[in-house]
Amino acid sequence: MRWTTRIAAAALIGVLQACATPPVQAPPPPPAAVEARPPVTILISIDAFRADYLQRGVTPNLVRLAAQGITGPMRPSFPSKTFPNHWTLVTGLVPDHHGIVGNRMEDPAHPNETFTTASDAPYWWNAAAPIWVEAEKAGIRTGTVFWPGANVAWGSTITKPDHGDYAGGTRPRDWLQYNQAVNDTQRVDTVLDWLRRPAANRPRFVTLYFDRVDVVGHEHGPDSPEVTRAAAAVDAQIRALVEGLAALHQPANLVVVSDHGMSETSDTRVIPLGLPKDSYHLIEAGPFAALNPLPGKEALVEQALLRPHPHMECWRKAEIPARFRYGNNPRIAALFCLAEPRWMIVEKLPDAPFTRGEHGYDNRSADMAALFVAAGPAFRHGTVPAFDNVDVAPLLRDLLALPPKAGLDGDDTPFRAFLQPR
Ligand SMILES: [Zn+2]
Repeated sequence: MRWTTRIAAAALIGVLQACATPPVQAPPPPPAAVEARPPVTILISIDAFRADYLQRGVTPNLVRLAAQGITGPMRPSFPSKTFPNHWTLVTGLVPDHHGIVGNRMEDPAHPNETFTTASDAPYWWNAAAPIWVEAEKAGIRTGTVFWPGANVAWGSTITKPDHGDYAGGTRPRDWLQYNQAVNDTQRVDTVLDWLRRPAANRPRFVTLYFDRVDVVGHEHGPDSPEVTRAAAAVDAQIRALVEGLAALHQPANLVVVSDHGMSETSDTRVIPLGLPKDSYHLIEAGPFAALNPLPGKEALVEQALLRPHPHMECWRKAEIPARFRYGNNPRIAALFCLAEPRWMIVEKLPDAPFTRGEHGYDNRSADMAALFVAAGPAFRHGTVPAFDNVDVAPLLRDLLALPPKAGLDGDDTPFRAFLQPR
């Protein structure tokens, strides 16, 4: 995942001020004066933290949270890409239903526009309301230290920004424009600074996002010592957060997730599409390929793709197997090819895009398994049987005491036995 690093000046100034000012070390108040704070819910994403990284022996703080609360194998939604899954985690819908069907996509309703991970035009996102919009509308203050879509003026129907913004939408009360240069310590400190505010101005729902495990996983591969070190570094930030919350006497329900795992790739495991150059329009290639045949070339392209291939299978969008829950959305291309984990689809040889790790494969493959750990006053202790990540948003609704929402693809069933009675 590569986000364009755009900086909203105001947001960055806020971060810089927060970082330049050391936290005020007030003397601890006498015990009788400690304010009884209601719990804050903090949703933390460690991008591309594969489920088994938890067993590498370098994440004692995540392991401790799992021992205090709940953990279990979580399946991402298809495709196992960053933006589709982050939007699923906060909406409870599969990508086919929430509309973020890839990190890159096109929409017949908006010709000449291409969605990328920098796209903040609300129409791309408006099909499903994220949890922070639901919370803000219920009077619950929210804050996001990054999350895909959290910079979007959700619900705005304006298609072109006016003076750089979209009118009429809803955002988290506090949010920051994504900027990879804001380091992990600054991200944690920003959350703690928000919680240091007077009660009336504190968020009760917060998101926190760490990208380094994903970046290092693409560059060095999931089995590399670099990934193990990155996992340890993020774990240290979890400790800083937990200690900072304790110092504030701030109870918190922490829900720690990843969006997908990571599969080891190599320039020796490459599948060329090998189609004539003038026969198709490619939207994306890699672990999967999404493409539209050009007019008059449909039969030629279908004949080439819809036959058996080693390490790859292709379908017309309507014929993608039902278990992927993918293929109805108008933003999905006419033809879709999926590689086996560890393999990469390219347009032709020899121009293999070479990374050592990739994701986007079958969401039920072991390589794509995602992290899930949750702990705090709302949780009992236990291991949750395998579940799909569409169930996380309904869990967040429970934690925020929002009523159940009809029409979602998931529900809170996997977690009910593990929630403390209210
Ligand atoms: Zn990701």
